Amino acid sequence: MALPSLKLAIRHILTPQTYPTNPRKLTFEDPDEWESWLASECAVYTNWRFKKDIPQAQSNRKRKFEWKRLYECDHAGSPRDRRDENLSPKKRRKTGPSIKVRCNAKIEVYQLVGSNVVTVDHYWQHNNHDPATLVNMKMSRNPDAVRHWLDARVHEGFDSKVIKAMIRMTSEELAEITKEVDSLPYSIKISAQDIYNATKRKAMATTYLSPDPDESIRLWMDALRKKGWTVAYEPTPGEESRQGFTIQLCSKWQKSLIPHYGETVCLDSTHNTCKGPLREKMFLSTILARDRVTGKGVPLAWMITNLESHYPLVQFLKWLRTECSFSPRTIMIDCSDTEALAIKLAFSDLIISILFCYWHLWEAWDVGLWYTVDRYMRGIVDRIQ
Ligand SMILES: [Zn+2]
Repeated sequence: MALPSLKLAIRHILTPQTYPTNPRKLTFEDPDEWESWLASECAVYTNWRFKKDIPQAQSNRKRKFEWKRLYECDHAGSPRDRRDENLSPKKRRKTGPSIKVRCNAKIEVYQLVGSNVVTVDHYWQHNNHDPATLVNMKMSRNPDAVRHWLDARVHEGFDSKVIKAMIRMTSEELAEITKEVDSLPYSIKISAQDIYNATKRKAMATTYLSPDPDESIRLWMDALRKKGWTVAYEPTPGEESRQGFTIQLCSKWQKSLIPHYGETVCLDSTHNTCKGPLREKMFLSTILARDRVTGKGVPLAWMITNLESHYPLVQFLKWLRTECSFSPRTIMIDCSDTEALAIKLAFSDLIISILFCYWHLWEAWDVGLWYTVDRYMRGIVDRIQ
């Protein structure tokens, strides 16, 4: 049995689709049938977008339709400039003009009261743009069928590199494309940004367990606890007035490594990892040890906080000590007074050697020396002048 191909088979038709009357009327006996008709339309010629359910009169006497729905061409409506004025042109993701050109093409779908069939009024004539052109294909959004194809691949676990390979066209396929072709594969139009958007859509759907960030984090904590993780999500002592909070994470596997590798560790901070509930910057701290089997770094625990002070670090280290039997002797840090202070406060009863990272130390020396020398040299130049 042949396996289904993972290649994207959707093509955009480049021959004009015209009919004797506008609108043309179609009727479907099976209520599901019209949806597959719409889906096939989506895939080949016009990008239909669902606009609204048209409300019906409440009283049975006045009501004409059981239900009625409106779909529009994605070029319908007035042009809108959605480019962010506050962003520099280089950073803008939306660089082109609006695709809205007041196109009147639309589909009205309805079921008349007392009727069993679904009727479609297909207003197929497009205004101010021509779907049968390459320029239009380039300007239009990806049809829903293409978006669904991308979403399905992301959900199956393929990463952007594999998806790019799936849509890569062979030289034979590319050689078939001439000015006279009557359809083009959508593979040619999918960009890296489209793949990124699909992975982002999945991340949004699977990462946010609730629309409320606080509730979402709590649900994550419960889910991780059930999997055997040691976790905490608490306000930061000493930072209550600034809405400080910390998220502390240590998996079952990491916890089992702490007694073996926890004696000599490295505390590393990453700034600006993501945005918090109030759109504030978030900081990630990692406790890292050297794996004696692989010789590589292995993270033992993580802490995420919305404040850069020593308070969250003190809380994190104390939590690791009580919850995960963390009892270090040597901790290496960047050239950071905040981290050194947090270690001293969290382990005030222990003797801990604090090592400063050689690279960060040299960087601090370098900056400090240049600053001093530069100021001294400027003084000499000023005096000479
Ligand atoms: Zn149109």
